[in-house]
Amino acid sequence: MPPKSRSAAVTAGRSAWRIDDARDLYQLPAWSDGFFGINEAGHVCVTPLEDQGLAIDILHVVEEARRRGIALPLLIRFQDILRTRVRRLYRAFRNAIEESGYGNVYRGVYPVKVNQLEEVVAEVLEAGGEFGIGLESGSKAELIATLPYLRDDETLLICNGVKDHSMLRLILQAQRLGRNALPVIEKSSEFRQLLAVAAELDIEPRLGVRVRLATSGAGRWAESGGYRSKFGVSIPELLDIVDELEQRGQTDALQLLHFHLGSQIEDIQVLKQATKEVTQVYARLLQRGLGLRYLDVGGGLGVSYDAGGSPDSINYSLQEYADAVVYSVQDVCAAQAVPEPVLVSESGRAITAHHSVLVVEALGAYEREVLPPDFQPPAQAPPVVAGLVECRAELLAATAGELSLSDLAAICHDVEEARREANMLFGLGHLPLEELGLVDRLYWSCCDMLLAAFRRQDPDPQPKEMQALEESLVDRYLCNFSVFQSMLDHWAIEQRFPVMPLARLDEPPTRRAMIVDLTCDSDGKIHRYVSANPDTSYLALHPLRPAEPYYLGVFLMGAYQDIMGDAHNLFGRVPEVHVYASADETDNYWIETVLPGDSVEDILAEVQYFRQNLQRRMNEIVREKISAGMLRPTAGMEIVNDYVRCFGQTTYCQTD
Ligand SMILES: *Cc1c(COP(=O)(O)O)cnc(C)c1O
Repeated sequence: MPPKSRSAAVTAGRSAWRIDDARDLYQLPAWSDGFFGINEAGHVCVTPLEDQGLAIDILHVVEEARRRGIALPLLIRFQDILRTRVRRLYRAFRNAIEESGYGNVYRGVYPVKVNQLEEVVAEVLEAGGEFGIGLESGSKAELIATLPYLRDDETLLICNGVKDHSMLRLILQAQRLGRNALPVIEKSSEFRQLLAVAAELDIEPRLGVRVRLATSGAGRWAESGGYRSKFGVSIPELLDIVDELEQRGQTDALQLLHFHLGSQIEDIQVLKQATKEVTQVYARLLQRGLGLRYLDVGGGLGVSYDAGGSPDSINYSLQEYADAVVYSVQDVCAAQAVPEPVLVSESGRAITAHHSVLVVEALGAYEREVLPPDFQPPAQAPPVVAGLVECRAELLAATAGELSLSDLAAICHDVEEARREANMLFGLGHLPLEELGLVDRLYWSCCDMLLAAFRRQDPDPQPKEMQALEESLVDRYLCNFSVFQSMLDHWAIEQRFPVMPLARLDEPPTRRAMIVDLTCDSDGKIHRYVSANPDTSYLALHPLRPAEPYYLGVFLMGAYQDIMGDAHNLFGRVPEVHVYASADETDNYWIETVLPGDSVEDILAEVQYFRQNLQRRMNEIVREKISAGMLRPTAGMEIVNDYVRCFGQTTYCQTD
């Protein structure tokens, strides 16, 4: 846990601020997996390569993208991170296999639902090609996308999800083609259907089965496993399938057993237990004479988005995960005296989460209006105003420590009372608008000073007046993005994502901020932060400076967020740049691809508004006004042009 003095230093903004303080405040060590750090300039940098410390200043990438005319928000993919993660996953399994003397190999498959973008899938395949990495699909469209990407006849394509006739047929056609595509049977009726399709094509099918285990996970995705799960075949159903295959003399048809505990496995013990359970099933079937080859432990390898103790963190390493799988399978196989299977895992989040960073820009901050220290109160003021002026004077006069906690609490009560009274008087028509404005500024000035005075004393526990001030003195930073498009899981399941400024990390972040997005939705905000402050409902940020862009990075966006985005308020997909590290380039990187984001025209077409039609309607309105003599033709054309120009623009705010 963060030391208390740290948060005090953060919020009080002492001059002795160091870059290390920023690293601790934004919890970099907890989530960066060594990929992200802060350079001497106080900027966030990324070291994406596995074996070199080559660092890229993210601000350089943002600035180059802007020079190329790409508007924010911007998604930056560090393709090298994908490679590094793939290699680390394989290395962990290789270590475990070598160390334990496990008698078979590991073959990962990448579950494309985590991020189906072609560039991502292609990169993962390229990085894992030498290890024989395969793919996993969970739907018809994913099957169609992945089938042509298998590099050879050994490469696995695990076909999960509910399958209709045409999918089953296509998978078997792939087998006919010599490809290693395995349908994983989710329910017994699917097995019947598979046999029927195999008969149609006159081939012997190969298949896997998703086993419904007694072990279930814990946490958000716990219902993906366990015997009440909506997925998988129960043990009696599995035995029926085996009987049927034996009767047909197709004992080699069943090739793979699979389970999946759900994403972000929290407890490694649960994984061990499930792995042992499925290995028992595997061993018994082998003893019965079946020709099983693969044991697939599903996905769920977790990633830490936050520091320990948070629901968004995990407490095991990649190596521990690999060890848990390898040793559990080995134990059971040894006890049952059966050969060890090829190990398969379907890790998605763990491969892709780190590689993409969303960059958003603060468009402005809603701060409270406060009064300058030299403000002179009016001579003639109604009693409510005078009361606040007095509180303010008392606070201004007090030096550190002079007011006790109970004095401060008493002033809090007076200030609240005065504000309530002012609002009431205004409502009754007894207070002019200007005086109400003055009350507001006096009120916030007092609150600022009160909180500062409380903090100087650093009380433990904090009085409730102080807590209330902490909560209300938060600025809203309006940022150019949509939570619903770019970080859906924050809205849907309250997942936390690390957010931090990309620069000025050598300065103390003295503002307490809540980040709000462009949507007209009160949920369009980030309301939980990864931060060392005990209060995670705000993020410490820097005051905005006029005419200087303030960029925030949202990290670990690569798993699920890229693909689940929703066009709330018609904010569309954001543009992307794909970056590779290279020591030969200025600033250590080059941009390989730029993908434009959705334009206004693109997103409108998705909801069936088409440019031609809209333009025609707009023209008609303008023409009508021109003929009615309300508008000169040149002005009319200007209106149409302004309208039409927007079709090509970004759906977000253009900031340059
Ligand atoms: C979602 C899913 C995965 C991927 O899980 P991660 O936690 O991202 O590794 C793997 N297998 C199946 C069957 C899934 O449904």
